[in-house]
Order: sequence, then C-alpha cells, then structure tokens
Amino acid sequence: VFISSLLGWSYYAYVVELCIKSVESGVQKALYLMFFHLIFLIFVWSYYQTIFTEPAPVPSQFYLSAVDVDDLENAETEDVQRQILAKAAKKLPILCRTMNGCNRYCEKCQCLKPDRSHHCSVCGRCILKMDHHCPWVNNCVNFSNYKFFVLFLGYGILYCLYVAFTSMPYFLQLFNVGFRGAAEFQIMFLFFLGLLFAISLVCLFGYHLFLTSRNKSTLESFRTPMFTTGPDPHGFNLGVKANFQEVFGDQREIMCLPIFTAMGDGVTFPTRCLDLDSEHLLGSNHGNGRWSDDADDADGYGGSLHHGINSVPPRLNTIRHL
Ligand SMILES: [Zn+2]
Ligand SMILES: [Zn+2]
Repeated sequence: VFISSLLGWSYYAYVVELCIKSVESGVQKALYLMFFHLIFLIFVWSYYQTIFTEPAPVPSQFYLSAVDVDDLENAETEDVQRQILAKAAKKLPILCRTMNGCNRYCEKCQCLKPDRSHHCSVCGRCILKMDHHCPWVNNCVNFSNYKFFVLFLGYGILYCLYVAFTSMPYFLQLFNVGFRGAAEFQIMFLFFLGLLFAISLVCLFGYHLFLTSRNKSTLESFRTPMFTTGPDPHGFNLGVKANFQEVFGDQREIMCLPIFTAMGDGVTFPTRCLDLDSEHLLGSNHGNGRWSDDADDADGYGGSLHHGINSVPPRLNTIRHL
C-alpha cells in the first residue's frame, strides 16, 4: 500500500506539477513525458508481477502418505523417523539435507522439502527456492517471481534516477525564484525522494545481482546448504553466465521484461558437480538441453539431473559444468 500510494503520488507530481505546470518548452515536455511513461510502465509491470505471482506449489510426490505421517508421529526414536523419511525420499530428486544429515521434512505441510525450498511462516506453506518474505511487496520472493523482484529493483532505480535528474533543474531554479506554492514543494520532494530511494535500491539491487551471480538465495547466503556430501556454499554455482540464465532465461529479447523465463521447475537444480552417470547432461552443454528432461518428465524425474544421487559421490568427480 505504501509503495502504491508513493507511486501514485510521484506519477501525479511528475506529470501534472512538473511536466504540465513547470516545463515550458513543448518538445521538452513531450520527451520528458514519453520517457517517463516508458519507465513507469515497465516498473509498475515488474512490481505487479512480483506482488501477484503466486508461489508455485510443492509437487504432490513430496507429500507423505497418511500412513507415513502416522508412522512418523508414532515413531519412538529419531532413527526410526530418519528411516521413514529416507524411504519416502528414495524416489525423489532431493540432494539437500538438514545439518545432521536427515532428509528435510516440513511438519506443518507434512511434506519432504524439495531442494532450496523453505517453509514460510507468513504464507503458511513451503515455498520453492524461497529467497525471503518481502513485506514491501507482501509476497514471498521465490522461484516463481525472483526475476520480477530483481527487475522491480532495477527499474525502480531507473525510475527514481530519471525523476530525480529531470526534476533537478526545476528544483535548483527554486533557489532563485523561491517557493510560491504547493507545486514547488512537490518538485522538491520528487527530487529528494527520487535520490533517496535510488540510493537504497542500489544497495539492494547490487546485493541481489551478487547473489544471482553466485546462484544463492538470501536464505542460503545466511545458511550454507547441506548436501548428501556435506555443506557446500557454492553447491548451485554453475558460473556467472549460467547462474544468470537460470534466473533470467536465455532468450535475450525478453530477458529484461517481467515475463517468466526462469529455467527449471523450481524443484530440482543443477549442481556444479555432476557425476559421471548423467551422460546425457554431459552431451548437452547449455541452454534448454540441461533442463529439457525435467519438463518432459514431470512425475518420473527419471534420468534427470540428480539421477545418480546414490551411486558415485558427486564430489569425487568434479566436472565444471560450462
Ligand atoms: Zn511447510
Ligand atoms: Zn512468505
């Protein structure tokens, strides 16, 4: 609500108070308004997508059967619980573990947590590749809207800087002509708020670009993901280019538009160390080839990325992908 009203006000102040009332030259007015609307449109579009994109649900295979849930609750020792979870997880493409090596289980959702997913107490459910719950957009930032969120930050900066710089000459003019009414105050606020928000957004945007380049979520930057082979802070890191493609897709034309282009299904993620079993992966170097199996093989997960979890310890065969 706060951001929406701020946006509404800035739109009014910029279009009416600055462009219509203060800018005198017709050409300048037209140029100011044209670029403003272009930036405003893409910024609001990214914002809208970040807020209203529902997090994708955890696939049904990850939910325990009623019998398993019962057994789990009645299990007397932790070892028995561990075994029940391990058995249920056997056919699932799960690599991540808890700190003590168990399968990650959500008691509230009664499901095994897919890799990189976490339970959000605000949303009340498990969220795929959860980054954080963002009060500014009143939504979880996660696999489904992470790209929109990063674009929202980026276009937010562009919007703030554009407003600040185009209103600057009129703001400076005020020192000569003085304040005569509300319009001058609005222009002053446009300039200062634009600058202020740009600075804070730059920090956040930079941080998320950094995280994207390392293929980490905010949660993972605080807590190192644990794999079957031990903790690995760079477990999902595939190299900067591939990391960006994972979030933004590989179609250049729509990479910077708030259209969903993230690769994968949010459930399985390629890790930097592949084992030698996944020959078909070694055959296909990048782009869709890496992911096509996941899309075609939604329920079986057969032959997908984590095919060889239980065979060769992946860490022994370190092959840099890409
Ligand atoms: Zn949950
Ligand atoms: Zn949430």
